[in-house]
Amino acid sequence: APPALPSAWKAGPKPSSEPAVFIPVDRSPEIQEARLKLPILAEEQVIMEAINENPVVVLCGETGSGKTTQVPQFLYEAGYASSNGIIGITEPRRVAAVSMSQRVAKEMNLPHRVVSYQIRYEGNVTEETKIKFMTDGVLLKEIQKDFLLWKYKAVIIDEAHERSVYTDILIGLLSRIVPLRGKKGQPMKLIIMSATLRVEDFTENKRLFSVTPPVIQVDARQFSVTVHFNKRTPLNEYNGECFRKVCKIHRMLPSGGILVFLTGQAEVNSLCRRLRKAFPFRKNKMAGDEDKDDTVEKTRRFKKSRQKKTTTLPKINLDNYSVMPADEGDEDRDAEMDDDEDAVGSDIDLDLGDDGSEGGEEPYSSLPLYVLPLYSLLAPEKQAKVFRPPPPGTRFCIVATNVAETSLTIPGVKYVVDCGKVKKRFYDKVTGVSSFKVTWTSQASANQRAGRAGRTEPGHCYRLYSSAVFSDFEKFSPPEITRRPVEDLILQMKALNIEKVVNFPFPSPPPMDVLVAAEELLIALGALQEPPKTGRLKDLQKAKLSCPISSLGTTMASFPVAPRYAKMLALSKQHACLPYVITIVSAMTVRELFEEFERPAVNEEEQEELKGKKARLIQMRRLWAGQGSFQKLGDLMVMLGAVGSCEYAGCTPKFCQANGLRYKAMVEIRRLRGQLTTAVNSICPDASLFVDPKMKPPTETQVTYLRQIVLAGLGDHLARRIQAEELLDETWKNAYKTPLLDDPVFIHPSSVLFKELPEFVVYQEIVETTKMYMKGVLAVNSEWIPVLLPPYCHFEKPLDNPPPFYCPETGRIKCHRPSVFYRVGWQLPAVEV
Ligand code: ADP
Ligand code: MG
Repeated sequence: APPALPSAWKAGPKPSSEPAVFIPVDRSPEIQEARLKLPILAEEQVIMEAINENPVVVLCGETGSGKTTQVPQFLYEAGYASSNGIIGITEPRRVAAVSMSQRVAKEMNLPHRVVSYQIRYEGNVTEETKIKFMTDGVLLKEIQKDFLLWKYKAVIIDEAHERSVYTDILIGLLSRIVPLRGKKGQPMKLIIMSATLRVEDFTENKRLFSVTPPVIQVDARQFSVTVHFNKRTPLNEYNGECFRKVCKIHRMLPSGGILVFLTGQAEVNSLCRRLRKAFPFRKNKMAGDEDKDDTVEKTRRFKKSRQKKTTTLPKINLDNYSVMPADEGDEDRDAEMDDDEDAVGSDIDLDLGDDGSEGGEEPYSSLPLYVLPLYSLLAPEKQAKVFRPPPPGTRFCIVATNVAETSLTIPGVKYVVDCGKVKKRFYDKVTGVSSFKVTWTSQASANQRAGRAGRTEPGHCYRLYSSAVFSDFEKFSPPEITRRPVEDLILQMKALNIEKVVNFPFPSPPPMDVLVAAEELLIALGALQEPPKTGRLKDLQKAKLSCPISSLGTTMASFPVAPRYAKMLALSKQHACLPYVITIVSAMTVRELFEEFERPAVNEEEQEELKGKKARLIQMRRLWAGQGSFQKLGDLMVMLGAVGSCEYAGCTPKFCQANGLRYKAMVEIRRLRGQLTTAVNSICPDASLFVDPKMKPPTETQVTYLRQIVLAGLGDHLARRIQAEELLDETWKNAYKTPLLDDPVFIHPSSVLFKELPEFVVYQEIVETTKMYMKGVLAVNSEWIPVLLPPYCHFEKPLDNPPPFYCPETGRIKCHRPSVFYRVGWQLPAVEV
């Protein structure tokens, strides 16, 4: 059925204010042919008329209909990137920003300096850029520098249905920017693009747009997809079920690609491994395939490296960070760290027993299965593989996380296998404790997944759960902004002088308690001006929610990191601490520095191997943590030591692999270090830092400062060991108490302070698995707490004249000598922990 058009749209076009221009694009015939098959091409005129006539347009269309790749081209051809303006497109995922800019450049036959991308760490934007793909966070930063976004003539917010927090905030801001630009006589167009329904949050929200924007629906040429539900829903074990289903499809069903949806990287890799074992590439069958020799060669190397890996420990000399891995001189293992699954099993026999299915007739099983993983941390070159045609004579099977749900459309999928689950980060609203949980997905996303099977011909979707379970799924997953702490967003908004954040036109406002928690944290960090302490409670509450930003806050907001880390950076311009704090903050921001071995082992042999690896890794961390005062920097010293050693060794993939570090993480840390150094230099030019990858280890005094600086940033993450007399029962042994949580928390076994058990610690985060565990733990001295964290202390005698500690105006610590800290020495019972 045609969509109900809002009245503004029904009334027909108003006289056009845009001059008719047409910028020709020189596309290759093949590209042109492929474009013409996209449903959105048929709607070009309708879309462009709507955009020309309206400041804001909402465009809905099935994934794969061509929104992301084509709409920027429509705008370009219509002259929106002519003399004095460019076209901006935001994506919630970095993967999409990069790969879509490359695709559009290719389609338009234009160089990357014209069709460019900018993501957090990198980009290829130039003066000549006309179409700029970026992550939504990048555009938000630009708004801080240039509120009216003068550079842009059109901004496209893509994947709005994902409802990422930055998307939501951007739409809120743009709802104000667009009319302002109109008033100034230099209009800007806003196009909100979304995969499926539920655009009402944008269109029906009177606080956002006073005139309801027109909604254009692009009907995709979607073929029918037959959905098969399982009769029973397997309780937990969907991985085995997935494997069996793929085997069955490959053996029994006619040609066509398979796309499997799982929840995480470890699961994806494990299934890839199993499938490659079950359906190996056979040499004689693969004549002419360039990947073949590669695979065999990698397998050989992989096996060899396996035999070698469980050898002795590397020897570390912490004085200069130089680490000599024991298997120096090993054969070249190149950059295959993340996904050794590429290397597995080309000569292992087909294991029919494993899939438990009918072994008899196998009409299609002779085809090799070309198995590829797809997840967001996968290297871009590997990600790009999914767009290339599979080797001739094979069936492809892509095992993906939900990146394949809407942001990337893989051609040629006929069968979808959907485990029905999704891995999501959950936060405790008040404490910010986060945990990853695998839960049922929503009906909307299950249907998205199914839709992937009907892009080129009728397809099938196998759901590994029953229809009864499906009907219990929530219809949509709630927007991210309603599910996570928002202090980073609030700080950014305050920096934009939006003081009363409660009045901000959020498409879906975050819950009140979350807003309050964010403001309280920012006040405690000194980023906001403190509200008056007297007055009626109601007024106080109100005042708390509309505090203006402080000058420390302005400094903090200019660092591209979360507020707690920004505070650390703002404090560390002394005693040459900045390079270390920059490194610690970079390392804390980048996920998964160390290789983890949590993945399920395929067999006993591998289980042993993983055990060995794990023990070795834990020992490595202890070595990196060092001795004495170094060790008190705990897991942060491990990070610093790991980064320092790695850079000292030249940051090679080989070094990382030998020492249990993720090469990609190390490269990312280096980039972030560079970026933060630039930011620091531009904020305080007299710091004149330069990135020296091979920095020396900190001195003992510096370590003391580093600990104090981290404490000042992570103040609300303070924990105190529960004393013997406070033990309620045995399970509280070695437990810690935090101000925010009623339940005890524990130091994570992977922490180097796991056995040290210092009295006071701060932690980077709490994750909940079997218990509440603190990760990224650092020991702090009790005397520092009242000095550095007065907002978190309860003083028995009122503090009339607290010694100045840091100057919020400059963001500097005023008393420099640690002896000052020691001299203060308030009675600690006064500290309520
Ligand atoms: P939408 O944004 O509506 O989901 P896209 O514009 O992303 O759709 O995709 C349109 C078409 O372009 C799809 O058929 C997709 O497979 C194809 N496509 C996208 N990126 C690439 C690429 N890198 N290589 C080949 N085809 C691609
Ligand atoms: Mg898209």
